[in-house]
Amino acid sequence: MASQKEIQKDKNTRIIRVGKQKLDHKLIREAAALLRSGELIAFPTETVYGLGANGLREDAVRKIFAVKGRPPDNPLILHVGFKKDILLYGRNISPSVKKLIHAFWPGPLTIIVKKRTKIPDIVTAGLDTLALRMPANSVALALIRAARVPVAAPSANVSGKPSPTTASHVYQDLFGKVEIILDGGKTDVGIESTIIDCTVEPPAILRPGKITRRQIENTIGFVDNYLYNSNDTVDSVPKSPGLKYRHYAPDVQLILVEGDATAVKATIDALIRQYHSQNKRVGILAFFPGSRYTIGKQDTLVNLGLRKQSVSRRLFETLRYFDEQKVDVILAENFPSHDQAIMNRLRKAASEIIVAQA
Ligand code: AMP
Ligand code: MG
Repeated sequence: MASQKEIQKDKNTRIIRVGKQKLDHKLIREAAALLRSGELIAFPTETVYGLGANGLREDAVRKIFAVKGRPPDNPLILHVGFKKDILLYGRNISPSVKKLIHAFWPGPLTIIVKKRTKIPDIVTAGLDTLALRMPANSVALALIRAARVPVAAPSANVSGKPSPTTASHVYQDLFGKVEIILDGGKTDVGIESTIIDCTVEPPAILRPGKITRRQIENTIGFVDNYLYNSNDTVDSVPKSPGLKYRHYAPDVQLILVEGDATAVKATIDALIRQYHSQNKRVGILAFFPGSRYTIGKQDTLVNLGLRKQSVSRRLFETLRYFDEQKVDVILAENFPSHDQAIMNRLRKAASEIIVAQA
């Protein structure tokens, strides 16, 4: 990856602290005016930081793909400031969609509906369907409302890297490429929204997130699960175009070891010995309690524990941390509760998955 110095700097990126409780509305209006006029603004949401552009302007949205190096067939999520906006930009809104909005908006649920023609094709990568979300972060909502346009925004990272959960992660990836980074502190959820496609019957979950399948089924009844795991090849036909790409990956290779606790430990112990014999520094991403591994002082171990909320909040920053520590390889335990959202991110970040045999 290009280092910060090599990145051509054509903007004087400003990081602006906005504070979540007491918002500085003058600063937010300034950012919103730039956003409306076609500039890129990075902003916090409750999931991860977003890279926002005026979702009604093709030229503005085009910049997102250029700055991130995002494949052109990977559609964006359109962020709205009010629940009723779904009627402005989507059509054929079903009773299920209304129930989901009522139950989960504002919040980390992205809903796919049929698209209206006023949304430029570049937002949806030419698809006839549109992904919509109303975020629950006060900075995000104030920005979108002040801009008075829907905001197309993917995560504010270079394509393929772990999503940013702090303003400084955005700065590391997009320094010189965006006008303003609104700094609202560390994001709450830490992983991207759940995506549900409501243009099919039954509706289908395309990406797991904080809002679980069970919560959704309690609201609208049975839904399908079209999850993509790391075995999907690029030429399989993906239900969600972006999900075929490798994601969330640190620069260094990550080996994910799945299986029961004892087998996982034995496999990781053997890998540690193997890498040490090659004079390599290992990073260990652990969840099981206790200090299970014998490591050297050149190595880095992070134990994120068993609580879903704190694991998801710290997962991406931890992947970035291993890169900073310059380890040669990351060895990751599977997350024991088999939480779908967390395991999905780990599998997509992995360059190799080993199933440990007991
Ligand atoms: P990101 O903004 O980086 O979290 O990525 C947005 C995700 O939403 C990508 O994986 C897209 O493939 C998915 N997405 C956006 N719009 C659609 C759509 N119309 N149909 C299916 N998936 C979509
Ligand atoms: Mg992303």
